[in-house]
Amino acid sequence: MSDKYDVIVIGSGPAGYVAAIRAAQLGLKTACIEKWKDKEGKGVNGGTCLNVGCIPSKALLDTSHKYHEAHQAYKGHGISVGKVSIDVPEMIARKDKIVKQMSGGIAGLFMSNKVTALYGTGKLLANRKVQFTDNEGKETILDAENVILASGSVPVDIPVAKIDHDTIVDSTGALEFQEVPKRLGVIGAGVIGLELGSVWGRLGSEVVLLEAMDSFLAMMDQQVAKESLKIFGKQGLDIRLGCRVTASEVKGSGKKKEVEVTYMDKDGNESNVTFDKLIVCVGRRPFTDGLLAEDSGVNLDERGSIYVNDLCSTSAPGVWAIGDVVRGPMLAHKGSEEGVMVAERIAGQKPVMNYDIIPNVIYTHPEIASVGRTEEQIKADGEPYNIGVFPFIAIGRAVAADEAEGIVKMIAHAETDRVLGCHIVGPNAADLVQQVAIAMEFGSSAEDIGMTVFGHPTFSEAVKEAALAVNGHAIHMPNRKRKK
Ligand code: FAD
Ligand code: NAD
Repeated sequence: MSDKYDVIVIGSGPAGYVAAIRAAQLGLKTACIEKWKDKEGKGVNGGTCLNVGCIPSKALLDTSHKYHEAHQAYKGHGISVGKVSIDVPEMIARKDKIVKQMSGGIAGLFMSNKVTALYGTGKLLANRKVQFTDNEGKETILDAENVILASGSVPVDIPVAKIDHDTIVDSTGALEFQEVPKRLGVIGAGVIGLELGSVWGRLGSEVVLLEAMDSFLAMMDQQVAKESLKIFGKQGLDIRLGCRVTASEVKGSGKKKEVEVTYMDKDGNESNVTFDKLIVCVGRRPFTDGLLAEDSGVNLDERGSIYVNDLCSTSAPGVWAIGDVVRGPMLAHKGSEEGVMVAERIAGQKPVMNYDIIPNVIYTHPEIASVGRTEEQIKADGEPYNIGVFPFIAIGRAVAADEAEGIVKMIAHAETDRVLGCHIVGPNAADLVQQVAIAMEFGSSAEDIGMTVFGHPTFSEAVKEAALAVNGHAIHMPNRKRKK
């Protein structure tokens, strides 16, 4: 095997593995270096997303949702089930099996696309040379025409709640609990806090989320965020806004271990609350430890991300960076699209990525999903806009399915009617928002969506009605007064 490659990718998360596959599809001799090891110490692909992120969290969300349905949601349908119980180790083992299956799938894709999978650590040296240290410690210097850095991100630590991998855990630890904690604390009511708080809450934990910000989901459209907060309150999630954790102390031992958390509320009052387990999920930071030699020529920005331009070129010629390690939302699909763009650029094509249309989903029940700009952002940009809001309670399919909580909010430019954003909390929001993302990609107006024939009865009809409501033409609710 010659050690000269057209492309070497460092990191095989959803950014890196997709870049490697696309590069190989385009005829480029490609290797992908990955240092992640599974529980048995074997090198595996897939990064955060497959091993401790998107996929395992959704496996637990799915199991806990089924449990909750059997426990609560069948009432009134005439269905009775016997005593419902949850075997937590079995649920975790199922999740592990799914992770193994999916990451094995990437190894298979690498093989069929002729990507060389190298298990170990990569370090970028000067002039696109890469030092590869395999899992046995053997070092090789590899040469590449192009290097793609895709080293991802890791959870942010806070000194007031140090992870001990037992009582105080990060998101990875919260995917491994072997029993349902009776009292579960969560620091940070963001995406992970809501998803993993929902998992354990559905299984019976009393969940308290301590959120430093005064507003809930500050980056989301605030109308949808407020609607979501009401729904989560009814589900029993105790979300305390404006509460900054100032200290934590683990007390007791063995089964009696617990953690006392001290926090300051927005009025400056100090309170204590005690939990059996505490999840710290206050954001993630780009990961570059050991990745770059001093003379690699790659610069970081002020937030510690690898500095890149719109095309994901770094400050070193022939070196690219994608995914969580660069600016932009830390989302698997954002990194994958960057991976495709970079591979195609290396192959001489000229794609660009549309950063304005990246869907964002929180997989609670109901889901929260958005694409495009929020009302707050559009207002700050000073653009005139119209809004259409449609509630799922007026959608027959949603009522029939007992899934009628939530709204679709569509925002369009007041003069051109072009769709600027769509924000949903409600059933299947993740899939509904994708319809709007496609429409936006084609420059759709709200009227275009409103004139499209939607199947009946579907949840999607809420998207059509919200689009009609933008111009005051919704059929299944009274409209706010607008132009004819
Ligand atoms: P990563 O997936 O972090 O992969 C980077 C890889 O690089 C890792 O495997 C790492 O071992 C490897 N690496 C790093 N340095 C080196 C080196 N020097 N040598 C060799 N290998 C190296 N996003 C969504 O879009 N949808 C979701 O539903 C979702 N759910 C999530 C749930 C949780 C609990 C978490 C924690 C995250 C979730 N995310 C979700 C975020 C998503 O996982 C990340 O955005 C995504 O994994 C980033 O992809 P990446 O390829 O940039 O980095
Ligand atoms: P987040 O940014 O979504 O939420 C962190 C929350 O913690 C924020 O609301 C922040 O105000 C709060 N916070 C920060 N410091 C605090 C403190 N000291 N005390 C109390 N609250 C504090 O981050 P996350 O939930 O850790 O998730 C990390 C990233 O992973 C997300 O940004 C997202 O990009 C990605 N992710 C995506 C999905 C998905 O797409 N469904 C799921 C999970 C994670």
